[in-house]
Amino acid sequence: MDLKIKTADRRMWREIRDIIPENIFDFHVHSFREDGFLEKIPESLKIYLPCDTKTVLTNLKKTFPGRKIKAILTGWPSIDSDIEKQNEYIALQAEKRNLYFLALVSPHTDLATIEKLLKKKECIGLKPYKCFAKNSEDARITDFIPMGQLEFANHYGLIITLHLSRRAGVVDPVNLRDIINLAEKFPSIKWNLAHCGRSFVIYYIEKHKDCLKELNKENIYFDTAAISDSEVFTYFFSIFGSNKILFGSDSPISFLHGKSVGFGYDWAFIAEETHKITASFPVSPCLLLYEQLMAMHRAFKKVGFTRGDIELIFSINANRIVRDVISRKLKV
Ligand SMILES: [Zn+2]
Repeated sequence: MDLKIKTADRRMWREIRDIIPENIFDFHVHSFREDGFLEKIPESLKIYLPCDTKTVLTNLKKTFPGRKIKAILTGWPSIDSDIEKQNEYIALQAEKRNLYFLALVSPHTDLATIEKLLKKKECIGLKPYKCFAKNSEDARITDFIPMGQLEFANHYGLIITLHLSRRAGVVDPVNLRDIINLAEKFPSIKWNLAHCGRSFVIYYIEKHKDCLKELNKENIYFDTAAISDSEVFTYFFSIFGSNKILFGSDSPISFLHGKSVGFGYDWAFIAEETHKITASFPVSPCLLLYEQLMAMHRAFKKVGFTRGDIELIFSINANRIVRDVISRKLKV
C-alpha cells in the first residue's frame, strides 16, 4: 500500500528509534497480489494494495530507517485466497530476495503439495489459519491444521505460525490444553503463537496469568505482531523472558494508522483509513507498527530488558530458529 508517514509518526519514531537495533528480523509479514484470490480480491483487502513483496519491503525499510531487514513472508490467509497461486508467488519472491517463507495451508492442502514447496530452501514452515476451519471463531487447532500436516511438520522440524481461534486466545482452557499436548506430541515443531497467542487486549491474560506459565516450553514462541497494549507485552516478557519472543510486524496491517482497542470483552482494530475517528479536537493516529514498538518500549522498561534482550527479540532468536530449521531440513 501507499505508505504515508505523517508528522505524528515521525515524532513517535524519534521517541523509540534508540531502542531499535540495527538488525531486524521480521517474523510475520504478509504479501500478496491482486490476482492471488479465487474470484476477485475481497473488498476489505483492497486498502492494502499494492501488497507485492517489493512494496512491502520498501515500506518496512521506510518505517525502520537505516536498519537491515530480513523477513519471513507468507501469503494472505482467507477463504477467498488461491492458496496455490499465493504460495507460488511468495516462493518466487523469497528466492529472488533471499528471504524465507511459510506455506499457506488449509486442512485440504495435501502433503505432496507441501513437500514440493518444502524442496525450496526458503520454505521453513507452515501458516494455517482459523478461517479454514468450519467453525472459525470457535475452532480447535486441529480443526484448521489436521494431524497429518502436524506429523509432517514435526518430521521436518518446521515452524508453524498459529493464529488461534476462540475469544480468550492462548488462555482459553481448550486452546491451552491443546497447545501443551500438541507441543509435547510434536516436539520438533517450532510453535510460534502469533500476536502473543492472539492476546490483543489485557483482560483474558490478566485473569488467567497463572495458566500462561504452563506454556514455558522449549518449542513454544510468541510473536509480537500487531499488539499495541504494553500491559500485554509486560506479561509475556516477564513470564517468558527474551528468548521466547519474536518481533513480527504483521505488515501490511502495520502500515495503517491505528491500533487494537478493547470494547467490553472484545476488541477491534480501529484505523483512520478504515474508520471515522472523531473527538472534540483533531486526532492524529500513528502507524500501528509504531504503536506496537512504543508498547514494546514501555514493557522493556517495566521488565528491565537490556540491549541484549532487545536484540534477541528483534533478530537473534529468529536467526537461531531459522538456522535450526534449515539444518534439520537438510538432514531429513
Ligand atoms: Zn498476520
